[in-house]
Amino acid sequence: QPMRVDELVGRMVERFREFAMLKDIEIHSSLDELPVEILGDEERLQQLLVILLDNALKYTEESGRVHVTCRKTANHVQIEVTDTGIGISAEDLPRIFDRFFRGDKMRARTHPGTGLGLSIAQWIVEAHGGKIRAESVPGQGTTISVRLPARG
Ligand code: ATP
Repeated sequence: QPMRVDELVGRMVERFREFAMLKDIEIHSSLDELPVEILGDEERLQQLLVILLDNALKYTEESGRVHVTCRKTANHVQIEVTDTGIGISAEDLPRIFDRFFRGDKMRARTHPGTGLGLSIAQWIVEAHGGKIRAESVPGQGTTISVRLPARG
């Protein structure tokens, strides 16, 4: 079904605002002026954003920042979730989309989780004909980019 992915991004950022405030993290979104439409399953895309926002807040220290953008390019919609968190080592980076993969043991102890989130995120993106990738600088932060085919 056709849906406004920019509106969904805006709503999800609002939903996480209170949670971010508890950790003194500043969260904001920048959206295109024009509507950004895709054909997709709204519930799944909502789940995708929950996974990405939850990770961004979980792996960012107090008084950090999380920034979400949603932009339309020629044929695609690009969603990016950027945080100023702990980052991911070059060694771990290729494995974060693997099922049950979690960062090093110290991190696993301080940040509970199953290691399933990003494998589900990747599955949702690929089911929509899109691509997901990660860039990160350890100690500085992470950007997860999702590219989905635009409508029409
Ligand atoms: P859960 O899915 O239960 O939340 P999880 O966060 O460990 O657990 P994934 O979302 O699959 O699982 O993430 C896999 C690993 O990738 C994490 O354990 C963490 O090491 C790393 N990671 C994911 N997102 C970020 C991020 N924004 N910043 C730093 N590390 C991240």
